[in-house]
Amino acid sequence: MELRRRHSGATAATYPSRSRILASDALPLPIRHTNRLFSALFIFSVVFLMRRWRQKIRSSSPLHILAFSEILAIFGLLASLIYLFSFFGITFIQSIISSNEEEVDFASDRKLSACPLPENPKLVIETLPESDDEIVELVVLGRIPSYLLESKLGDCDRAVLIRNKALQKITGRGLEGLPVNGFDYNSILGQCCEMPIGYVQLPVGVAGPLILDGIEYHVPMATTEGCLVASTNRGCKAIAESGGAHSVVLRDGMSRAPVVRLPSARRAAELKAYVENLANFETISLVFNRSSRFGRLQGVKCALAGRNLYMRFTCSTGDAMGMNMVSKGVQNVLDFLLTDFPDMDVISISGNFCSDKKPAAVNWIEGRGKSVVCEATIKGEIIRRVLKTTVPALVELNIIKNLAGSAVAGALGGFNAHASNIVSAVFIATGQDPAQNVESSHCITMMEAVNDGEDLHVSVTMPSIEVGTVGGGTQLASQSACLNLLGVKGPNPESPGSNSRLLATIVSGAVLAGELSLMSALAAGQLVKSHMKYNRSSRDIASAAQ
Ligand code: ADP
Repeated sequence: MELRRRHSGATAATYPSRSRILASDALPLPIRHTNRLFSALFIFSVVFLMRRWRQKIRSSSPLHILAFSEILAIFGLLASLIYLFSFFGITFIQSIISSNEEEVDFASDRKLSACPLPENPKLVIETLPESDDEIVELVVLGRIPSYLLESKLGDCDRAVLIRNKALQKITGRGLEGLPVNGFDYNSILGQCCEMPIGYVQLPVGVAGPLILDGIEYHVPMATTEGCLVASTNRGCKAIAESGGAHSVVLRDGMSRAPVVRLPSARRAAELKAYVENLANFETISLVFNRSSRFGRLQGVKCALAGRNLYMRFTCSTGDAMGMNMVSKGVQNVLDFLLTDFPDMDVISISGNFCSDKKPAAVNWIEGRGKSVVCEATIKGEIIRRVLKTTVPALVELNIIKNLAGSAVAGALGGFNAHASNIVSAVFIATGQDPAQNVESSHCITMMEAVNDGEDLHVSVTMPSIEVGTVGGGTQLASQSACLNLLGVKGPNPESPGSNSRLLATIVSGAVLAGELSLMSALAAGQLVKSHMKYNRSSRDIASAAQ
C-alpha cells in the first residue's frame, strides 16, 4: 500500500486532502499544557463562584447583582467548560465513531471496497443477459469488465465460473486442473482476493506433538515440499523426548515508517527532534491511538536522508498482525503534524524504513512483529538415537554452515539452515501473509555442547515474526481450522495479543524442530537419501539442501 500525497502550499488550511481535522489541531500549545490550564481555570472559577454565593446567601445580598470579579469567574467557567467539552467530549464521540468504523471495516465494509470504474463506461452493458454463455461472450468482448461480475450478478460462485470460462476463451488455454466449485467465494470478497477464477489446492501436513512451554501442539504445515513435514516431525520428537522447548517473547510491536520531505535538511532535523522528543510522546500517542482500540503507540525512531525524514512508528496491535492498524494510526499523526509543520510534504505513508516484505537490517536489529527466542536442551542419547548424529558434529556444522557460511555469503538475518521452510508452511496453513516470510524467517540458530559435552543446547532467535489471529486470511474456513488446532483461533478477549504471541512462539518452536532435524540430516550425510525416499520427483534434490 503506497498512499502518495503531495502539496505545495504553505498553511494547514491549504491542504484539501487532509482527511480529518482534529479538535486539538487548533491549539497553539501542546495539548497537555492547555488541558492543565483549562482544568485549573475550571476548578478555580467553580470554587470562587461557590464561595461568593455562600457569602451572598449569608449576607442576604441579591445573587443576580454581579461584581466584576464574578463576571470574570463566570467567563472563565464558560470558557473552560467549552474547552473541556470540545476536547474530552469530542474525543469521546470520535473514539466511539472510530471504533465503530473499525469494526465495520473488520466485519463487512471491505466487501463494499470500491472497484475502479471501467475505462469506457459507454461500452458497459447495463442489463445482463440471462444465460451464462452470453455473459461469458460479453466478458470476452470487453463489454462487461471482469471485475464487476460479482457486483453485477450478486452471486460470487456464478461470477467465478463465468470469469474462469471467459479467461479460457480469451487465452485459448485450458484450466481443467484448477477447481472452481467447493470454495466459499463470499468469504474472500473485498478482503482476500480479487477476480477469483478458482483456488489452488495445497496439502496440509501435521508435525508434532511439539512440546513447547509445557503444552503439546500439533503444528499444521501447508507445503508441497517432500520431507519438510517429516523432518520437522522428527525434530519435534527429539525435543519432546528431551523434555520440551521453552520460548520467550522479547518484544511485540508492528511498525510503519512514512517518508516526508521538508524544504531543507535542517527543517527535517527539527521535525525529527520534535517527534523523538519524549515530552511530545503523550500528544503523539494520543493522536495515534485514536485509530483503534488495540493499536497503542510504543515509540518512534527516525532516520534522515537529506531533507527526507523516515519516521518508524511502532505499536502493539492486539491479536492482529497489525499492518492496517499501524497505518491508520500513522495517518492520524501525519495529519496532526501538518499543523506545526505545514511545509511537510508527505511522500508516502510507507517509506521502506518499516520495513515490510523486504530483507532489511532494521527488522533484524530492531525487530518487527514478535521477537521470539526459543531453546531446548537435547540429550546426547536422543541425538544419536533419533537424529542419527552426535553433539560435536552438530556444533561444528552449525559454526561452519549457519554462522561462518552465512557470514561469507553476507547474509542478513539468514544465520540458519531453513527457517523460511517452516515459517512459510505454517504461515500458509494459518492464513498469515506469506510474503512476510521474508523478515519473519530472520533467524540465528545457535548450538552448543552442554553438560560436559554430553548434551546439546540449541536455540533459534527470531526478531521479526509477523503473525496475527484476526484479520487478513485468518478468518477463512480452512486457515481458521488450522488456528483452531493450535488453540489460537480469533481474538483473545481476556488478553488481546495473547493469541498472536502464542502463535509466534509456536512458529519459533517448529523452526527449532526443523533446524535440529535438517542440521542432523546434513551432519549425518542423510539429506540426499531422505529426499530420494520422500520426494522422488525429477526435482533437483541438491537445490533442496538449503
Ligand atoms: P491488520 O492490522 O493485521 O491488517 P485488520 O485491520 O485486518 O488487521 O484486523 C484487525 C481488526 O480486528 C480491527 O478492526 C480490530 O478492531 C479487530 N479486532 C477484534 N479483536 C481484536 C484483537 N483481540 N486484537 C486485534 N484486533 C482485533
